[in-house]
Amino acid sequence: MLDAQTLRKDFPILSHQVYGKPLIYFDNSATTQKPRCVIEKIENSYYNVNANIHRGVHFLSQAATEAHEEARQAIQQFLNARSSNEIIFTRGTTESINLIASSFTDECVSPGDEIIVSVMEHHSNIVPWQIEAAKKDISIKVIPMNDNGELLLDEYEKLFSNKTKLVSVAHVSNVLGTINPIKEIIRIAHEHDVPVMVDGAQAVPHMKVDVQDLDAEFYAFSGHKIYGPTGIGVLYGKEEWLEKLPPYQGGGEMISSVSFEKTVFNELPFKFEAGTPDFIGSTALAEALRYVENIGMDNIAAYENDLLDYATRRLETIDGVRIFGKAPNKGAVLSFLVGNIHHYDMGMLLDRLGIAVRTGHHCAQPLMQRLGIEGAIRASFSFYNTHDEVDVFIDGLKRVIQML
Ligand code: PLP
Repeated sequence: MLDAQTLRKDFPILSHQVYGKPLIYFDNSATTQKPRCVIEKIENSYYNVNANIHRGVHFLSQAATEAHEEARQAIQQFLNARSSNEIIFTRGTTESINLIASSFTDECVSPGDEIIVSVMEHHSNIVPWQIEAAKKDISIKVIPMNDNGELLLDEYEKLFSNKTKLVSVAHVSNVLGTINPIKEIIRIAHEHDVPVMVDGAQAVPHMKVDVQDLDAEFYAFSGHKIYGPTGIGVLYGKEEWLEKLPPYQGGGEMISSVSFEKTVFNELPFKFEAGTPDFIGSTALAEALRYVENIGMDNIAAYENDLLDYATRRLETIDGVRIFGKAPNKGAVLSFLVGNIHHYDMGMLLDRLGIAVRTGHHCAQPLMQRLGIEGAIRASFSFYNTHDEVDVFIDGLKRVIQML
C-alpha cells in the first residue's frame, strides 16, 4: 500500500489552509494538484530550454525539440502504443474528441449514418458529435444504463445497424465512477466492424491503461487530470486510422510543402498538430507520468479503491443520503445528495470548512436527466487523500446537514 502522508509532501498546495482550515481537496476529477517535480519541470524548461521546436537549426531549438519528442515517446510507453506516430498532442480530452468527431465524420460518414455514445457521457463526448451530426445529417444513438449506473450491453448490441460508423464512450464516468467494461464494448463494436473512440479522461489517472490490450482505435486523455499541466492532452490513434483521416486544423507544422496550387500535409503525428505545440506542457506531462509510474498505477488503483470503500461506508451511515453510481467496478468518485438539501448550499458550506467538492451537473446534463436530478455533490479522490480527511469530511457533512 502506498504511503499517502509521504506522497502529500510532494504537493505544495496540499499544505495550504482555506478559511483557517487545512485544505481537503476532493475535486480531483475536475483537476488534480501538481507535484513539485512537475512545477519545477515547467520552471526549468522556461529557464533553460525555451525555443520554438522542429524548425530551428540552433542549439536551444534542437534541445527543445528533443525534449518534446522524448515526451511523446514517454507517453507512447505509458499507454503501450505501438509507435510514437500514434501519439498526437492536443489541448486535452475535449480537443481530442473534437478532432476525431471532425476528421472521422469528414472521411468516413455519409448522411443517414449513425454514431453510438452512452447516456453517461461528459458533454465533451456528446456536443462534438451533435455539431457534426447537424452538419452532416447523421444521428446519435444512446446506450442506456441501469439504476446502479451500469451500461446495458444487451441494449448496446441492439443499437448496431449497417449505418453505424463509430462508437464513442467513456472508460470511466466522471459522475457515477462506473468503470465501463470497455474491452467488451470494444469487442462488440469490432464484431460489427465498427471502430471505437474511448474518452479516457477519468481512467488514465487512476488505473493502468494499455491501448494495445484494449484495442480501441482512438483513446483520449487530459494532462491536468493526471498531475500534469493544463492545456495539454493526448489523442492516441491506431496508425492506420490516423493515416486515413484528414487533418483537423491547418497551419504551420502540419505541412510538408505549401504552394497556392497544392499543399502536401506532413506525416504522422505532425499532420494533426497545426501551429506551435505546447512543448513546455508536453515535457511537464511526461514528468507527471514518470511520477505516477514511480508510485505504480496498480498501487494507486488499490489505494483509491480502499479509500472509496471507506468513504462509501461512512457516507451511507448518513440519514437520507442518496449515492449515484453503485456499480461494483467503480473509480474513486462519490456523487450524492442528502434529503432535499440543495447541492449548491451544501458545497458552499463545506467550502467554509476547507473541504473542496464539486456541485452541479458535472457537464453531464443528459445523465442528470436520466437520474431525475438537477445536480449532485461530487467528492473525487486521489492517492494523496487520506482516511483522516474522509473522517473530517463526514463530520463536516453532518454539521452542514444540521445547519441546513
Ligand atoms: N471526459 C470526461 C469523462 C471528463 O470527466 C472530462 C472533464 O472533466 C472531460 C472529458 C473533459 O476534459 P478536458 O476539460 O480536460 O478536456
